[in-house]
Amino acid sequence: MDFNDSPEEAAFREQAKTWLANAAAKHQGSGGGRRPNTPEHMAAAKAWQAEKAGAGFACITWPKEWGGGGGTALQQVIFNQEEAKAGVNYGYFTIGLGMCVPTVMAFANDETKQRFVGPAVKGEEIWCQLFSEPAGGSDVAAARTKAVRDGDEWVINGQKVWTTGAQYCDYGIVLVRTDPDVPKHKGLTMFWIDMHDPGVEVRPIHQMSGGSEFNEVYFTDLRVKDSQRLGEVGAGWKVALVTLMNERLAVGGSSGPNYNEIMKLARELRGVDGPAIKDAAFRERLADWYVQSEGLKFTRFRTMTALSRGQTPGPESSIGKIIAANQMQDLGNVGMEMEDQYGIITDPKLSPMEAAFQQSLMWAPGLRIAGGTDEILKNIIAERVLGLPGDVRVDKDVAFKDMPTGR
Ligand SMILES: Cc1cc2nc3c(=O)[nH]c(=O)nc-3n(C[C@H](O)[C@H](O)[C@H](O)COP(=O)(O)OP(=O)(O)OC[C@H]3O[C@@H](n4cnc5c(N)ncnc54)[C@H](O)[C@@H]3O)c2cc1C
Repeated sequence: MDFNDSPEEAAFREQAKTWLANAAAKHQGSGGGRRPNTPEHMAAAKAWQAEKAGAGFACITWPKEWGGGGGTALQQVIFNQEEAKAGVNYGYFTIGLGMCVPTVMAFANDETKQRFVGPAVKGEEIWCQLFSEPAGGSDVAAARTKAVRDGDEWVINGQKVWTTGAQYCDYGIVLVRTDPDVPKHKGLTMFWIDMHDPGVEVRPIHQMSGGSEFNEVYFTDLRVKDSQRLGEVGAGWKVALVTLMNERLAVGGSSGPNYNEIMKLARELRGVDGPAIKDAAFRERLADWYVQSEGLKFTRFRTMTALSRGQTPGPESSIGKIIAANQMQDLGNVGMEMEDQYGIITDPKLSPMEAAFQQSLMWAPGLRIAGGTDEILKNIIAERVLGLPGDVRVDKDVAFKDMPTGR
């Protein structure tokens, strides 16, 4: 494992820091604010993405001819680290640029790539991922939304759910069933779609945080051209795997307060028996969070070392998400308890640390599900890291139409 930047990596870090210091200072007060999904926040996010694209810092690993930076995966990691430190972070483009557009680049024809990749890099158009359905989330291959061929077009009917950002996205990639007579993994096909088509209805889901980050999406006789197909007919699972591999890497990290910040709060807040930092039970938990954080840091170093050597990171990114999401939930819980009656206040102007612990508590359950639930990640770690026997799969050779549905 290599803990230090190589001379080239250190030079790139300096270059990124210098650019970020100037650009972030100019960007401050551009109307972004802290509340996502407002028109002002979206406009600020698009302006920031365009700024990064202009400087070659958007999609650093993508070829320059597609609007990327022509750099390495490690440079992207370094830039992400410095961007987070500079405090300019927008989530609107993560799914599109991290998962959907790479899938388009891998499977679409040249005309489609020419039309869509550039505007996505510059933040002019945003993409969403339409995989999960009421009957298939962890088991994405159980998708029931169907597409039936009609000449040079396909007609799509069905429902997706938990589609992040569908309400503001311009385009999406959708996994549909095109052949129910073969086993579930073999009868799927992927298409890109226009989210503004009248055949697409987006219904936001109201969350406990007060926001609506994800949606139900209904398709009623949505017509798409065969040229919108990504990959071969029936090869949608192979295409989806490319998207999902990128997803695990993209959602590996987490934001929110860390053990240092809760330690600071524990020193400042006074309970009836004095500050929480004096409490033995709290100190024990603090020690656990410290150990977990160090473990996470070294696991990330391992990923960075693999990237630095031009290798692909392995299933260990599953370890990162499982620990980080659970720790985030734990920290949110304890932080709110320590704040006592102020713990129930979510207004960032009134609550200690701008309600960071409240935000963590409400966001962490979602992070434990998105991009693979805790249980699914444990299965991956068991099978692919520890080499334990595989999960039992009873429907591998059964035609999709013959699978029991409970109806
Ligand atoms: C914040 C957030 C954003 C999301 N954004 C998107 C998006 O943009 N696009 C999209 O398509 N989807 C999105 N999703 C959906 C997400 O991919 C699914 O919620 C997730 O895959 C789990 O599927 P499910 O909700 O259907 O749960 P299920 O698969 O029904 O799981 C229910 C429970 O059963 C357990 N379980 C299931 N299978 C197994 C197994 N084999 N072994 C052991 N336990 C098992 C699970 O761990 C879970 O506890 C998002 C979810 C969240 C929380």
